[in-house]
Amino acid sequence: MSIKEEVQKRKTFAIISHPDAGKTTLTERLLLVGNLIRTAGTVKGKKSGKFATSDWMEIEKQRGISVTSSVMNFQYNDLQVNILDTPGHEDFSEDTYRTLTAVDSVVMIIDATKGIEAQTLKLFKVCRMRGIPIFTFINKLDREGKEPLALLEEIEEVLDIETYPMNWPVGMGKRFLGIFDRHGKQFVKFNGNEEETYIPYEDLEKDEHQEITSQTAFEAAQDEVALLDEAGDQFSLEAVLSGEQTPVFFGSALAPFGVDIFFDTFISMAPTPQPRKTTEGMVEPDSPEFSGFIFKIQANMNPAHRDRIAFIRVCSGKFERGMSVKLSRTGKVFKLSQSQQIVASTRETVDEAYAGDIIGIYDPNAYQIGDTLIEGRAQFNYDELPQFPPELFKKVTAKNVMKSKQFKKGIEQLVQEGAIQLFRDKRTESYILGAVGELQYDVFKYRMENEYNVDVMFDTIGERIPRWLNSDEKVNESLFDERKLLVRDRDGNNLVLFQNQFALNWFKENNPKIELFNRL
Ligand code: GDP
Repeated sequence: MSIKEEVQKRKTFAIISHPDAGKTTLTERLLLVGNLIRTAGTVKGKKSGKFATSDWMEIEKQRGISVTSSVMNFQYNDLQVNILDTPGHEDFSEDTYRTLTAVDSVVMIIDATKGIEAQTLKLFKVCRMRGIPIFTFINKLDREGKEPLALLEEIEEVLDIETYPMNWPVGMGKRFLGIFDRHGKQFVKFNGNEEETYIPYEDLEKDEHQEITSQTAFEAAQDEVALLDEAGDQFSLEAVLSGEQTPVFFGSALAPFGVDIFFDTFISMAPTPQPRKTTEGMVEPDSPEFSGFIFKIQANMNPAHRDRIAFIRVCSGKFERGMSVKLSRTGKVFKLSQSQQIVASTRETVDEAYAGDIIGIYDPNAYQIGDTLIEGRAQFNYDELPQFPPELFKKVTAKNVMKSKQFKKGIEQLVQEGAIQLFRDKRTESYILGAVGELQYDVFKYRMENEYNVDVMFDTIGERIPRWLNSDEKVNESLFDERKLLVRDRDGNNLVLFQNQFALNWFKENNPKIELFNRL
């Protein structure tokens, strides 16, 4: 098969959600779809999935913090589906954000009973900033939730994106009857634990369906659909692909209900790998030479295997095991002999990969997050990975002052690698670390102990709102104190860590001339 054909088979996406919205449940359903296809060659399978207690779930439960990221892949019809896990819960970290730079689209799960929650909002903003197409799955229709129209309004207002309901629910919770599949022009009937049934619109008139069609909820939903058809936004694949419109699906990952319809439609619309921006212009995914960038480095938490794995998003050409590539930042050439695909818990050797695929390579302590690897003579860098504004801050010191040399070296390397962000207090010069999630501190501490042999202590500063100052202006240091801590970042820019929104507002009111910038 040609490189072009390989690229056109690939669909690489991540599922984002707030904890408990149903990401694990939905992912499992999708793996079930993949698994059944492999064994039985059919899409619609029995409900009692063999995959329910799949291996990766077991590993997920036991994993601690060692396997925070994985890629799941399977064949679906003629497609190669790559799902990137975006860890949630206490595992939330900058890696979670960076994973979004390696996908071509995103599925956003919203819990119908809760609407948009904090973590969804954060991840969504990153997708919007990067123009990643977003598909929405509103989950838990089997429970009493918010009204569908209210949910759409909330998405449009809070997230500032146009919505297009691909289907429309009839009732909810105990009164949930099913959905109108606007795209496939059929009614999908919810049958509790039994498999859903599909009734084409034109057959709804038949007497045998009167039991459903005569219900008030059905009639009400029918009217709503008619209204949407007439007065709602038009569907535009172009707007979806540019991240301006999100197709919305309703269903239940647990029942499961509406998952097949969602996945079929989503996967047919989701983009294949697109050309990507580099410092030397766009690079086509099917151009002959291999290139890719590192979006994550995982130091193995298991002291028995002190290896580091760099995760590469392949962006062009063909990756072949054993090939030589150039690290764009230094010009140094590396032979990629130990390549692996981190499929959930297992590491399978990868012999070849194409744009859209994610591979893990052994890192001889040479790579940094954001590095570009290229085959051949070309010289370019993929768009710099964005830095994300940290929210949690801690002062860090070495327990043993005699170890300050290792301490500084460790911090420098871990910061350079992108594991955590570093700031220095303007007055005291003390080291302040910034992260988006608590996990980053656990990993930092662990790695300082195991890789640099330094025990570290943290002094919590807590959640802060960082705002950068205009770099051209001279700062009046007397304006700042503990509640509005003046620090500088790695590049020497001054910023203020405000204790809370109140402190920020107060400062703004009292210093109207000082400009403050938010990074995201
Ligand atoms: P995650 O934290 O986003 O991965 O969420 P999980 O998939 O672990 O789901 C959180 C909880 O919600 C679990 O108890 C699930 O069984 C439940 N859940 C997930 N999907 C549904 C659904 O469609 N309906 C109902 N009633 N519960 C669901």
